[in-house]
Amino acid sequence: MKKISILIPAYNEQEVLDKLYARLTKLAHNNKFYEFEFLFINDGSRDRTLEIIKEYAKKDRRVSYVNLSRNFGKEVAMCAGFDHVTGDATVIIDADLQDPPELIPDMIKYWEKGYDDVYAKRVSRDGETWFKKFSSNLFYRILQKTTHIPIQIDTGDFRLLDRRCIEALKQIRESQRYTKGMFSWIGFNKKEITYNRDPRAAGTTKWNYMKLINLAIDGIVSFTTAPLRISTIAGFLVSFIAFVFIIILIFKTLVFHDPVAGYPSLMAVILFLGGVQLLSLGVIGEYIARIFTETKGRPLYLIEEYHNGSDVKKARR
Ligand code: UDP
Ligand code: MG
Repeated sequence: MKKISILIPAYNEQEVLDKLYARLTKLAHNNKFYEFEFLFINDGSRDRTLEIIKEYAKKDRRVSYVNLSRNFGKEVAMCAGFDHVTGDATVIIDADLQDPPELIPDMIKYWEKGYDDVYAKRVSRDGETWFKKFSSNLFYRILQKTTHIPIQIDTGDFRLLDRRCIEALKQIRESQRYTKGMFSWIGFNKKEITYNRDPRAAGTTKWNYMKLINLAIDGIVSFTTAPLRISTIAGFLVSFIAFVFIIILIFKTLVFHDPVAGYPSLMAVILFLGGVQLLSLGVIGEYIARIFTETKGRPLYLIEEYHNGSDVKKARR
């Protein structure tokens, strides 16, 4: 019997876990030809999430969990999941039921037809503000234009991945991760299915705009060096304009004996150039910071406890 792993990163999700677990058991009940594993990654929750998961694991052998030593963020939590799933295929799903588990049989169907990566594209996003929709749209457009790998628009992490995709993803050990880009980067046979994204079942979103902006910068910086190229081009452009301006100034002074234009124009030019320089430095800094964190070679995450069936591995005291 083939085994399907359901990978669920969870951070402070005590309100929705019961609903999620009920729907997952129903899914397993309706698909008897497959064995299921429900792998929860507890990403340093500060509420009762871990206790609830432990209760499930006690009475249900399909439930396994990884308890991370602190909150590492969803991207790293997913990586911990890739390292620990045991199934022939893995479905990544949010704990908050924004991704309907009822779509999973469809994904399995396409997987059986030979697709390696069946991803769910959302056609509606109820319960999200227009600003979030607008900004995420803009971000995808920019990313698409600057990177040369096709990144799927309006697609989250909700997808089924074949074992060979998981093995490929496990080899990517970057610490500042943009997993959505990695799914595209690894390639393999992709299949798109569509669904309506529901609002959160309960609890509150763990994202705020600062986190989203950071993820957006991570996404761009980790997949393209285009910003460096843009600052080079901007440098050329500004230098050229400055050169033309100098010639005009010399000409005016020598031919028309025009006194030098005063303080305001000088100030404008200095401030503008200062701004451009700081921006370019910032762009270079982003890449250097990345080199710095990657060269440290730290482990991506630390595990406090891993529970799989009857087997429990705890970090030693
Ligand atoms: N999540 C996580 N670690 C974090 C933040 C979020 O594991 O630091 C999990 C969270 O429990 C949920 C999923 O990532 O299962 C998506 O989070 P959320 O619903 O808050 O994001 P949104 O749907 O608003 O983008
Ligand atoms: Mg959500």
